Amino acid sequence: MHSSPIPRTGPFTFSTRFFGIGSYLPNILRHELGHILGLRHDNAATCEPENPSVELSLENPLSIMNFYRDPSRIRACSIQDSDVTAVRKLYSLNQSTLKGFDVITVDPDTLDERN
Ligand SMILES: [Zn+2]
Repeated sequence: MHSSPIPRTGPFTFSTRFFGIGSYLPNILRHELGHILGLRHDNAATCEPENPSVELSLENPLSIMNFYRDPSRIRACSIQDSDVTAVRKLYSLNQSTLKGFDVITVDPDTLDERN
């Protein structure tokens, strides 16, 4: 039987792959919360053309929503005014389309979408 120093219970697991990243782990959490709120990567419009998007704020290299592989760049990021602006704009949309994209509302309980 495989023994692990970290008990695995319930649906959660903890990988040793993440040891040593404690100094920027809070920023990863902040970044992922931004995705949960509906934000894409800060530079998605230029760096992820395969999934077109609408920019709700100006690109900001310090935005928590940037995607960096370099830990020092992740540590340097924080929640910026541009991130707050993007969330406010996203949640204040009251039209059915924006720049050719459908604006939808997703029910968090059922994940049903509606315009
Ligand atoms: Zn991301």
